[in-house]
Amino acid sequence: MRIGIIGLQGAVSEHLEATRRAMEKLNMNGETIWINEPAQLREIDGVIIPGGESTTIGKLMQRTGTFERVKELAKSGIPVLGTCAGLVLLAKRGDEQVARTGQPLLELMDIAVVRNAFGRQRESFEVDLKIPLLGEEPFRCVFIRAPAVSEVWSDVEVLARFQGKIVGVRQRNMIAVAFHPELTPDTRLHEYFLRMCEKK
Ligand code: GLN
Repeated sequence: MRIGIIGLQGAVSEHLEATRRAMEKLNMNGETIWINEPAQLREIDGVIIPGGESTTIGKLMQRTGTFERVKELAKSGIPVLGTCAGLVLLAKRGDEQVARTGQPLLELMDIAVVRNAFGRQRESFEVDLKIPLLGEEPFRCVFIRAPAVSEVWSDVEVLARFQGKIVGVRQRNMIAVAFHPELTPDTRLHEYFLRMCEKK
């Protein structure tokens, strides 16, 4: 099992660690790879796009050639997990901020996003949310200048909501969440993702 984490900017090492912890929990033999060039995205079983600044990550992905490679992989059915800025990048449709900055989106999921959807007063906060996909026990969600999904279409499933806003979605081989699952000890989301990578 080889999981690549796009490592150009943002919460990269936290995802590497969370993925390793999840592999241990599942007794899974695997490798986590810090990705900064497209050649590393060969023979990969899953890709994680971390949180950070979606404008920067998107531009760096284009510059390094990982942008097109991730698109190809996702379209071929390789599982992709996007968190926070990663969710923004997976969206087909952005908001005014996206239009203004001209930031590139991977346009892989049938969702529209709003960046910084929880306002400036609430730059970061934590909340326990029920996410049925992960079981009965609520999941601690860390939101940091988080986006939200404003619209879903086609076969997108909503996984979680907070204050009426959609903060978690799944579409076929892709999962995107507005929060940071790599920043808490709970590895359930990473475990779920690894099982998707195993099955693909
Ligand atoms: N606000 C950031 C963006 O839109 C995302 C923040 C994060 O990933 N923690 O790119």
